[in-house]
Amino acid sequence: MDKSLYILGGSPWINLVNTTYISNKQMYDILHDPSSAFKWLGENNLLRESDVLALENDELLDQLIEGLHSLRHLCEVILADLKQQGKLSLNTVDQLKRFVQDVKVGLAIVPKHENLKLISEGITARDHVMYNIVSSIIHTLDNISIDRIRECEHQDCILHFVDTSKSGKRRWCSMELCGNRQKAAEFYARKKNKK
Ligand SMILES: [Zn+2]
Repeated sequence: MDKSLYILGGSPWINLVNTTYISNKQMYDILHDPSSAFKWLGENNLLRESDVLALENDELLDQLIEGLHSLRHLCEVILADLKQQGKLSLNTVDQLKRFVQDVKVGLAIVPKHENLKLISEGITARDHVMYNIVSSIIHTLDNISIDRIRECEHQDCILHFVDTSKSGKRRWCSMELCGNRQKAAEFYARKKNKK
C-alpha cells in the first residue's frame, strides 16, 4: 500500500480516521493488522524509542490498538459533528473529557539545539500515543478553519484531510490515489460523449 496513505490526512487524528479506507470497492482497516498498525504509529511520529521497545510486547501493542479503536470512533464522531453543525456537540466534548481522564502525562526536559525544552509526554506508550492524538484534535480545532477539514471528493473514497494549501482548494486525498483517476474518468467520459 502507498506509504503516504498513513499520513496524507495532515494530522494524526485525521490519519487515524483514515485507517479505514476503500480500495477497489473493498473496505480495509490498517488497525486490523498489528504490524501495519505499528507502522502507522511510526509514520505518524507517535512513538518514542522507549515506546518502540515497549511495543515489542504483543500484549501491550494489542492494548494500544484497542485504545486506538475507541479513539478512532471518537474522531469519527467529531468529524460528523463538524460536518453537521460546524462545532462539537456537548456530548462529544464530554466523551473527549472522559477519554483524557485515563491518559497519564508527565514532564520531561529534552535538548533543543543548544538549549533545553520542557515538554509533556505520556507515561506509557499508550499514554503517549493517546496524548499526542488528542493534542492534534485540539490543535486542529484551535487553528484550522472547519471548512478546511474535508472529505476527498472522489465518490469511491472515504479519506479525510486537512487542507493546508495556500489556495484552500485541495479536492483529493492525494493526486496519486484519487486526483488522477478522477481526471482519467472525466477524460474518458468526455471522449465517450463525443462519439
Ligand atoms: Zn481520495
